[in-house]
Amino acid sequence: MSRLLDKVAVVTGGGSGIGAATCRLFANQGAKLLVTDIDLAAAQTIADQIKGQGGEAVAMHHDVSSESGWISVMSCAQQTFGKVNILVNNAGVCVQQDLISTSLQDWRKTMGVNLDGAFIGVREAIKSMLANKESGSIINIASVNGLSSGGIEGCASYCASKAGLRLLTKSAALECGRKGYPIRVNAICPGGVNTAMNQMLSKEELAAKEKCHPVGRMAEPVDIANSILFLASEESSFVTGADFIVDGGVTAGFVSGDYPEMSAGGASE
Ligand code: NAD
Repeated sequence: MSRLLDKVAVVTGGGSGIGAATCRLFANQGAKLLVTDIDLAAAQTIADQIKGQGGEAVAMHHDVSSESGWISVMSCAQQTFGKVNILVNNAGVCVQQDLISTSLQDWRKTMGVNLDGAFIGVREAIKSMLANKESGSIINIASVNGLSSGGIEGCASYCASKAGLRLLTKSAALECGRKGYPIRVNAICPGGVNTAMNQMLSKEELAAKEKCHPVGRMAEPVDIANSILFLASEESSFVTGADFIVDGGVTAGFVSGDYPEMSAGGASE
């Protein structure tokens, strides 16, 4: 109940999926929440649920690709709760599109949310955390598709944005460490998660996606939230600049059905 006692957390995209599960879990562990989302009604629902269970939460409309939006978020956290200890850069979009059909505008939309948004968030959170003089933890939600584009086709902008987010994470962790800032910065790379982001998949596509996870299923949002909680808490005090892969084994190798079977005499290729 007290792994985040008296900590103040900002969670972007907190109205749905992984973000909503993270807000609930953090609140159960004693954190005060600023739940932000471009969908204010969704963020408000989560904040109301938390307050209904005796927690502290405020919802705020926030487009992460807006620089002025981030300044308002940090100032709201400061005014409402007096500080910021944790930022979860979770808001993200995935536009499935062949590369040759992707306009520069579409590309920039993905980058604007997944990478520019995270960059502004990291920068503004570091400034706020330094002002608090308390330790801070920033968790960026990347993806196994930032490690490899295997498993999904037609998501070049998504894969590129998540790969960029991993290196933004490492650069920020290095800079904070070397400058003596008491702030850790880590990335989580989830495999497939049962959220709205996968709702466009057909039944067959969903079954195939489940099958390529060696554990035989996709993650539930709380599976990812539990890892975010570890990185947010002091239990991970020696962890910074890490890619925390939470993928049901999907990156560990191929499983039967994903790859042409080897004949007894050798490779099938
Ligand atoms: P989701 O669609 O349930 O949640 C995404 C949330 O982000 C929504 O509440 C949405 O309103 C919000 N959002 C979208 N654009 C925004 C913007 N410009 N500003 C602020 N909020 C915005 O999806 P999810 O699966 O919970 O995704 C959360 C994160 O996890 C994303 O970064 C996603 O890329 C990452 N991820 C998801 C999966 C998966 O399989 N679902 C796998 C790996 C990584």
